[in-house]
Amino acid sequence: MRMTKVKCPECEERFDLDVIEYDDNDTVECPECYAALLVRVQEGKVRVVPETEKYEDITIEEE
Ligand SMILES: [Zn+2]
Repeated sequence: MRMTKVKCPECEERFDLDVIEYDDNDTVECPECYAALLVRVQEGKVRVVPETEKYEDITIEEE
């Protein structure tokens, strides 16, 4: 287990997320407000965003 603190974008509650268990694009439920959140891993940093931002948040990088 490797826990990291993330902040719920809906209720701003901070909670622990196991970064071994969760990967980029996984969904997680906020333990406080039960909002469906999307796990984003970028440059080794883990954060959660509202699941509704799933498509808006993805940037397409062309080589
Ligand atoms: Zn919440």
